[in-house]
Order: sequence, then structure tokens, then C-alpha cells
Amino acid sequence: MSRLTVLAGPTAVGKGTVVRALRQACPNLWISVSATTRRPRPGEIDGVDYFFVSNDEFTRMIGDGALLEWATVHGINRYGTPRGPVVDHLDRGIPVVLEIDLQGARQVREAMPEAQFVFLAPPSWDELVRRLVGRGTEDAAERRRRLATAREEMAAEAEFDAVIINDTVEHAASELERLVEATR
Ligand code: 5GP
Repeated sequence: MSRLTVLAGPTAVGKGTVVRALRQACPNLWISVSATTRRPRPGEIDGVDYFFVSNDEFTRMIGDGALLEWATVHGINRYGTPRGPVVDHLDRGIPVVLEIDLQGARQVREAMPEAQFVFLAPPSWDELVRRLVGRGTEDAAERRRRLATAREEMAAEAEFDAVIINDTVEHAASELERLVEATR
């Protein structure tokens, strides 16, 4: 059986971009698609980027035990990992990658301590702030909320098995690929 790899790290560090690069480079691994109550951003596709669900639907998924982990991220929207597809892929020997927040990573560690936990860190705090502002997808209040979360998340690095500095997407994706491949 392959192992699960969990990628976490502070908001705006570039987890999504690194995971997209990994998907291109390694089609033979599987990246979980999360459920979220957040509204889609322009260009996001239901079932590809996320399963965009209502609050009621998300609550039902929790009640059914359908989520491996879930969390309220940045104090607003709920995000969670559907359990079934993760277990199915691992059973079939396909390495699985989760890109989730720190609260979720801690829950996965309780449920599946054999998983590999990887922290994606920014080159510096200033660079993280620059990326969050530069992305331009959040308003000022949302940016403040996300930066407050990010400060707490940065302090959790020591809880992880491995740390990757996201200096360039290519470097971070190839480091992640090496760690994921090592679980086969
Ligand atoms: P965004 O709204 O920018 O797509 O994602 C916000 C945050 O939610 C990111 O830090 C991302 O890692 C986290 N996230 C995405 N999917 C999940 C999930 O399934 N579970 C948890 N716990 N966090 C998630």
C-alpha cells in the first residue's frame, strides 16, 4: 500500500501552485479534491478545483462520516477531504497527496499517523505578505484575517516530517515529487 502525503503550510505560500505543478509532472499520483462551502473564484471548476457544496450538504457529509478531516479555515468557510477516494487510491497502490490547512493536517495525523507530513514554507515572512497582497483575490479584511492565521501556521513547522522552502515552483514541486515517490 502507498502512503498518504499531506502538504500544509501558511496561507498564500503557494501550495495550490506547487501541487498543480506536481500533478503535471507526475500523472501517476492522485491529488485529492476537497469539498468546500466557499464560492468558486473565476475560472474554478466544480469537481476539479473543489467540490463546491452548500452549508447543509457539508454538514451532511460530516454527519455521514464522509470526511477524513475538515476545518473552518480563516474563520469563515469549511473545507474537508472526502474519505472514500483517498482510501480507494491508497488501496490500489496509488500515492495520494492532500493539500490542506494545519488544523486538517493535525486531524489526519490522529487518523493516519503513518502518513508523511510536509510543510511548505515561504522564503521569508515579507515574501509571504507580498504573495498574499499580489494575488489580489482577497479584500483588505480577508487579507488581515489570512495573515493572522498565517502567523500561527508558521509556528507549526516543527510538527512536520519534512520542510520544503517554496523559493521557486519548479524546485518545490520536484522536492515534493521526490518525497511522494519515496512512499511507494
Ligand atoms: P482557498 O480558499 O484559497 O482555496 O484555500 C484556503 C485554505 O484552505 C488553504 O490553506 C487550503 O490549504 C485549505 N484547504 C483546502 N482544502 C482543504 C481541506 O480539504 N481541508 C482542510 N483542512 N483545508 C483545506
